[in-house]
Amino acid sequence: MSLTNKTMRQAVMTAPGQIEINEVPVPVVSGDQVLVDIAYIGVCGSDIHVYLGKHPYTPYPVVQGHEVSGKIVAVGDAVTKVKIGDRVTIEPQVACGTCYPCKHGMYNICNNLKVMGFQTTGTASDYFAVSEHHIVKLPDDMDFRFGAMIEPLSVGVRAVKKAGNMKDKQVLVIGAGPIGNLVAQTAKALGASKVMISDVNKLRLEKALASGIDVAVNVKDEKLSEAIDREFGADRRADVIFDCAGVQQAISSAVSVARKGSDIVVVAVYEGVPQVDMAYINECEIRIIGTARYNFDDFKTAISLVEEGKIQLGELITDEFEIPDYLKAYQKIEKTPETTMKVLVHVHAS
Ligand SMILES: [Zn+2]
Ligand SMILES: [Zn+2]
Repeated sequence: MSLTNKTMRQAVMTAPGQIEINEVPVPVVSGDQVLVDIAYIGVCGSDIHVYLGKHPYTPYPVVQGHEVSGKIVAVGDAVTKVKIGDRVTIEPQVACGTCYPCKHGMYNICNNLKVMGFQTTGTASDYFAVSEHHIVKLPDDMDFRFGAMIEPLSVGVRAVKKAGNMKDKQVLVIGAGPIGNLVAQTAKALGASKVMISDVNKLRLEKALASGIDVAVNVKDEKLSEAIDREFGADRRADVIFDCAGVQQAISSAVSVARKGSDIVVVAVYEGVPQVDMAYINECEIRIIGTARYNFDDFKTAISLVEEGKIQLGELITDEFEIPDYLKAYQKIEKTPETTMKVLVHVHAS
C-alpha cells in the first residue's frame, strides 16, 4: 500500500482548551527517517498543563503526543537500525548534542532541549515521521497500550535509579497518580523491601494496591507520620521519599517525615516555588535529588521490567478514546481526576 499523496488525521491544539482534527498529507520519509503508523498515545499531566494554558514553554498551535506506540511502515534510504514491521515507541527528546550536558552523557537535561509534543511536533496523527535515532523497539508480543506507557514508566525508572540501589530500602512515594504509581512499582521491582504510597484519591490508592504496592495511605483518614511509624518503624522510617505530587504540602510532608539521612527525590513538576525548611535539611543531612525525564537506558530498563512481568501497567488504564475524540480525553482528566488514571487515545495501527 502506498501512502504517497494520501492524507491523515492530525490533532492540533490551536489554543488552550481547543483541539481540532485536521486532514494533512502523510509525511514522506527520507534519509534516516522512519514512518510510524501510530497505535496508541497516552495523555499525561504535562499535556494537561498545555491544555490549561499553564505550560510556560509551549507555544500554540501545537500537535501533542509524546507517549506513543506504533509500527514502522516506511523507512528512508539511510535507515540501518530498524525495519518495516517493527513495533516501536519513540524517545521524544530532541537534544542539541553540543552543549555541556549533551557532551557529558546527560542529553535529557540538554541546554537547548526540545520535547516532541511541546516545542516540536508531537505524534497525535495517524502517521509520524521521525529519525530512527529516536526509535526504541518494543518486544513483538507487547500490547501497544503498554508500549504507549513505556515513556511514563521511564520517568519512574530514572527517578528510582537516581536514588541509587533500592535493595532492602523502605520507600515512601507521595502522590499516587500514574507517575507516582510507576515510581512505586519500579522501586519494588528494583529491590525495595517495602513501598508505601500516599494520596487523597481513593481510586488511585486502590490502583496502587492492585498493582502490587505494599501500603496505600489515604492522608485524609490517617496522618502520614503515623502510617510511617507503623509500617517502617518510628526509628528508621523511610530511606527514600519520592515527591510525585509537586505541591507545597507534598514537599513539606516529605521533609517532616524524613529521618536523618533520608533522600528526597523530586519527580513532580512544580508550578510554584515551595518553601522548604533548609535548616532541617542541613542538620539531618537530607539529600534532595532532582530527576528529569529519562534517557535511552531508562527506556530499555522500562521495557525489560514490563517484559519480566515486574510492572503492572494494565491497572493504570482507566479510559480509552478514539482520535476524533482527542479533546474528550483531556476533558476526562481535567473534569474527573477522582476517577481517572491513565487515559489512552487509540489512533490507527493495532
Ligand atoms: Zn508524559
Ligand atoms: Zn544539548
